[in-house]
Amino acid sequence: MAGATSACIFCQIARSSTPTSLLHSDDRVVAFEDVNPAALRHYLVIPVEHIPTVRDLKRRAEDYTLVSHMLDVGRMLLQRDVPQSKQYRFGFHQPPLNSVNHLHLHCLALPFIPRWKHMKYLSLGPLGGFIEAEKLLDKLKPE
Ligand SMILES: [Zn+2]
Ligand SMILES: [Zn+2]
Repeated sequence: MAGATSACIFCQIARSSTPTSLLHSDDRVVAFEDVNPAALRHYLVIPVEHIPTVRDLKRRAEDYTLVSHMLDVGRMLLQRDVPQSKQYRFGFHQPPLNSVNHLHLHCLALPFIPRWKHMKYLSLGPLGGFIEAEKLLDKLKPE
């Protein structure tokens, strides 16, 4: 697997070699709680494979199905755990605004707590920022 290193904290979590408890795991993805929650509930879904950022994804079936699987898992977990939330948001930080260089889908059950945290999850249009999962899927969908 290209680029997988023992220094990557998310690779370690995916291999269950940390105390982080997994909310979901299958052969392609794992999910766990964000250590710095920005909302009522805040989960991360990551691929088991080390893919650094959204820039490493291409318009092809393989990447499209991976991201749509990540989104399905995130939706399933939030709907199960926080059905009372009025709004969910799912998306990715684009470099250079991403924190950890291992692809991770932010799954947020709103409201943002504290409220200013929403600033971190704004789309900045052509400048990048946060990209909604649905929008990324449009970009990856094979012709
Ligand atoms: Zn990694
Ligand atoms: Zn992030």
